[in-house]
Amino acid sequence: MTPPPSGGHPFPSQLRAWQASLRSQFPIITAHPDLVYLDSAATAQKPQAVLDAVHSYLATSNANASRGAYPWANSTTADIERTRARVQDFLGDPAPARSQVHFVSGTSAGLRSVARDWLPGYLRNGDEIIVPFGDHEANAAPWLEAQELLARQGTHITVHDMPYQRGSHDYDVVALAALVSPRTRFVATTHVHHVYGGDMNVHRVREVVGPDVVICLDAAQSAGHLPISLADLDVDFVAFSGHKALALPGTGVIWARGRRGPAFAPSGWSGTPNTVGIISLQAALDWLDSAGVGRIEQWTTALAARLTEGLRGLDRYDVLGCQLSLAQDSDVQQRKGIVTFRHQNIDAADLGFILYSHGFMVRSDTHCQARTGEARTSVRVSTHVYNTPEEVDRLVAVLAEL
Ligand code: PMP
Repeated sequence: MTPPPSGGHPFPSQLRAWQASLRSQFPIITAHPDLVYLDSAATAQKPQAVLDAVHSYLATSNANASRGAYPWANSTTADIERTRARVQDFLGDPAPARSQVHFVSGTSAGLRSVARDWLPGYLRNGDEIIVPFGDHEANAAPWLEAQELLARQGTHITVHDMPYQRGSHDYDVVALAALVSPRTRFVATTHVHHVYGGDMNVHRVREVVGPDVVICLDAAQSAGHLPISLADLDVDFVAFSGHKALALPGTGVIWARGRRGPAFAPSGWSGTPNTVGIISLQAALDWLDSAGVGRIEQWTTALAARLTEGLRGLDRYDVLGCQLSLAQDSDVQQRKGIVTFRHQNIDAADLGFILYSHGFMVRSDTHCQARTGEARTSVRVSTHVYNTPEEVDRLVAVLAEL
C-alpha cells in the first residue's frame, strides 16, 4: 500500500501493474499523455479490443440481423443473441431462462420504455409509486410522464419523492418505510449516484418495501464500474448505457424479469437493431470481465477516496455528498469513483475552464440532476480504470494553487 502525499487513504499498489497494462489498451488515453480524462460518468473511453471488434465486424460480416438467409446476416443475428446472454451473465442473472434483455439506445431510453410500455398496464387507479427526484432526470421524468398518460386515461396514481438522508445522500430507508403503503406498487432506484458517487444500497430498499413491489434499477453509473449481482439485488428491471461501460454510444440495455406484474414487451416496430453497437457491447463486457470488475471497483474507489482526502486537505473546497464514506471498509456508504465539489469563491464553469487549461477534462454544471437536486453548479470528477493516482495528485496540486 502506498500512502498518498497527504498521508490519508492507502492506495492498492498491488493493482499497479494490472492497471498499467489495462491503461495501455486505451488508444485515446495513451495518445494524449498531457491530457487527463476525468469525465467517465458522462461517457467512458474505449479499449482497443472494442475498437477491433467494431472494425472487424464492419470489415468482414456487416449485415442486418434476423433478415436474410446468408452467412453475414446469420452471424449478425447470432452475435446479437450471444450479447443478450452475455448481458445476463454480466449482471449475475440467477435465472436467465426467465428474464429478457432488450437493446435500446441508452439508460434514458430504457427507463422511458419501462415507463411507457409496461408501467401503465401494471398500475391501477389509486396506486402509488416512489421515484427518486434527487437522482438523474432520466430516472424521474419518465415516471411523471407515465402518471400524466394514465391520468388522461382516467387512472390516477400518486408519485412520491424517494426520501434521502440529509448529508449522506443515501436513500432514507426509515422515511421510506413510513411512505410505503399497501398501494405502493413500484419504486425507481439508482445503483450509484451520478453526482454524489455513493452506492445507494438498493438491497435496503427491497427490505423496506417488501417482496411484492416492483423495483427498477438505474445502473448507468455502476455497470462496468462494480460487480452487479442480480441474485443479491432482487430487482425487476435494470437499465444501463453501453457507452458508459466501454461500448459505443447509442447502445443500451433494459433487462426485465417478469416475476412481478405483466411481462415486459416494448411497443411498436423497433426496426433495424444497432448491430455494431451491440457487437461493441459484447466486446466491452468481455473486456471488463477479463479485466475484473471487482478490481476496477477497488481501483476507482481508491482514486475517489484519494481525491476526496486531497480536497479535504484544502480549505477552500466543499465536497458534495457523504463525508463519512472515505474508508473503503465503511459500512455507512461507500463513495465509488465519482467526486463532486465546489470551490468557495470560483464558479464551477470557470473552474472547469481553468482545469482544462491544465489538461484536466471534468464536468462542470448541475449534472442533469432531477427536481430536488443541487441548485448550484459544481465540478464532477469521474474516474475509470485508465486513471491513475498520479493524475489525481496532479489535479489536487493544481486545485491547491487556486
Ligand atoms: N442515469 C444516470 C445515473 C446517469 O448518470 C445517466 C447519464 N449521465 C443517465 C441515467 C442517462 O444515460 P444516457 O444519457 O446514456 O441515456
